[in-house]
Amino acid sequence: MSHPLFDISGRTALVTGSSRGIGLALARGLAEAGCTVVLNGRDADRLERAAAGLPGEVHTSVFDVTDGSSVGAGMAEIEDRVGPLDILVNNAGVQLRAPLLEFAESDWHRLLDTNLTSAFLVGRAAARGMTERGHGKIINICSLQSEVVRPGIAPYAATKGALKMLTKGMCADWGPYGVQVNGLGPGYIETELTGPLVRDEEFSAWVRRRTPAGRWGTTQDLVGGVLFLASPAADFVSGQVLYVDGGMTSVL
Ligand code: NDP
Repeated sequence: MSHPLFDISGRTALVTGSSRGIGLALARGLAEAGCTVVLNGRDADRLERAAAGLPGEVHTSVFDVTDGSSVGAGMAEIEDRVGPLDILVNNAGVQLRAPLLEFAESDWHRLLDTNLTSAFLVGRAAARGMTERGHGKIINICSLQSEVVRPGIAPYAATKGALKMLTKGMCADWGPYGVQVNGLGPGYIETELTGPLVRDEEFSAWVRRRTPAGRWGTTQDLVGGVLFLASPAADFVSGQVLYVDGGMTSVL
């Protein structure tokens, strides 16, 4: 029998950027735990296909997390159609790699908008209802690059480092109203986003060598952490980032 501290059945959860990859795996985990799940992305057909593979009550909501008016309309529509949100996972993100001297200004803005501004926009919209109702869980998908950085990925690391501090700031502002805000920091996980790195034999071998667990992570590796942070077991956990990285951020 599962412990009641981990019971999140009947809760309603939105996972941004859940048409594939980590977001879809997290949405599946929440659905399997008995949550009503709302999938989000920019492509309605892709979202419908993703929703078809999940158990239980699953909804889709098409909006662009970088656009304030799109977020506002999408979040209002979710509240009307599905009901109040108990859990928000800010997962949508992009990774763009290039040496800083060659990094385009437009790419800088795209990274900031998708990885950081999105969490502010969607988090703020969700927290309005959560703080009124006196409970809610927000989980921001950070990265091992919230802590450490390699050459060629400084702008991405800057967005994820800032997302860690936004997590702490949300915890400070919304904690008094019963909302816990935490981060989950994945290590190197095999998804479409990391496809080119996985296919690069040299890089792939480097990841295996550098990770105490000796392998790349899978999207499934991240599910337990999110279920914990979304559950009553984490009611006194806030402002933290839980790194799920096979130990990589802990070793030189
Ligand atoms: P993918 O590229 O596989 O998936 C990204 C998801 O985000 C897609 O569902 C995409 O949907 C959605 N998305 C992108 N831009 C927007 C937008 N403007 N509005 C709404 N949805 C959007 O990425 P991953 O699953 O690998 O990564 C997910 C998160 O995990 C990201 O925040 C990433 O930084 C983080 N992360 C990933 C790691 C990894 O190793 N893979 C490691 C550490 C952190 P669509 O295109 O259909 O709109």
